[in-house]
Amino acid sequence: MIEQAARIKVAIQKSGRLTDRSLELLERCGLKYTRGRDQLIGYGENMPVDVLLVRDDDIPGLVRDDVCDLGVVGMNVLEERRLQFQAEGVSEPFRVVRPLDYGRCHLAFGYPEDGPVRSLAELPGRRIATSYPRIVQDFLRRNAIAAQVVEFSGAVEIAPSLGRADVICDLVSTGATLAANRLREGETILDSQAVLIQTPREVAPAKTEWIARLLQRIDGVMQVRESKYVMMNAPVSALAEIARLLPGADAPTVIPLEGRGDKVAVHVVCRENVFWETLENLKKAGASSLLVLPVEKMLP
Ligand code: ATP
Ligand code: ZN
Repeated sequence: MIEQAARIKVAIQKSGRLTDRSLELLERCGLKYTRGRDQLIGYGENMPVDVLLVRDDDIPGLVRDDVCDLGVVGMNVLEERRLQFQAEGVSEPFRVVRPLDYGRCHLAFGYPEDGPVRSLAELPGRRIATSYPRIVQDFLRRNAIAAQVVEFSGAVEIAPSLGRADVICDLVSTGATLAANRLREGETILDSQAVLIQTPREVAPAKTEWIARLLQRIDGVMQVRESKYVMMNAPVSALAEIARLLPGADAPTVIPLEGRGDKVAVHVVCRENVFWETLENLKKAGASSLLVLPVEKMLP
């Protein structure tokens, strides 16, 4: 039985847009867990890592209060909470340690198609409905715009048609929700994606090593997502041109081919996706027997 104090707690969203990708990330880091009976905690079986499943809004506070050592949350939620903590005099409630490259969206103004406001210049004196009052307030202050912020906890996009606001500021990913509510997308005030946060305070020494291992595994998982292992045969004379064509490649491994002094086998890891165009160009440069393989794990 591993000592409780040595277990790392990671908070992720219980059910929502970030849940599947966050669980997948932890699984790809090698974590196997069993869900508790209440389904709120996933107990790590093979690593001293437990997963707390909570509302995303609670995640910054759980890390700030050291209930959890790590958390995964959208930049939008994090920034809103950071501004709140700042107003309360808390200087560094959490530290962003990794952007995770999923849950992408942006916080943008939405102007009613048939309304009088069409840009920032027309905002003064207007009412803005949003679920992110602090971020919007901060934006208005930095841009010296005097407008009123009306806080909505959900269904922000219907505020103008209810007569409760003149414009909205809400999360957008595809823009379909805005369009469905006859709103035109305006200026973006925050670009968001899921991020990993960590407590800035010292943790038990027993945890430090596993946190470092987890971060290293996350880096590995993020890198292999795009990485490909590329193999081909090539004339020695074309090696320089081939190296130039490979996207985000490390130094290639060049292996002699039995009985062929003029040709070699080239093996290389490309840290970007390899598209058909690249393969066609490599073939034109003289390469043959091209093979592109996914990379399963990587440890730099
Ligand atoms: P909870 O019940 O956990 O409070 P929620 O309703 O606040 O859930 P979701 O709608 O599941 O949250 O969104 C979680 C996060 O997903 C958002 O905070 C944001 O970072 C990200 N996200 C990505 N695309 C979008 C989008 N189109 N609309 C809203 N959030 C998005
Ligand atoms: Zn939420």
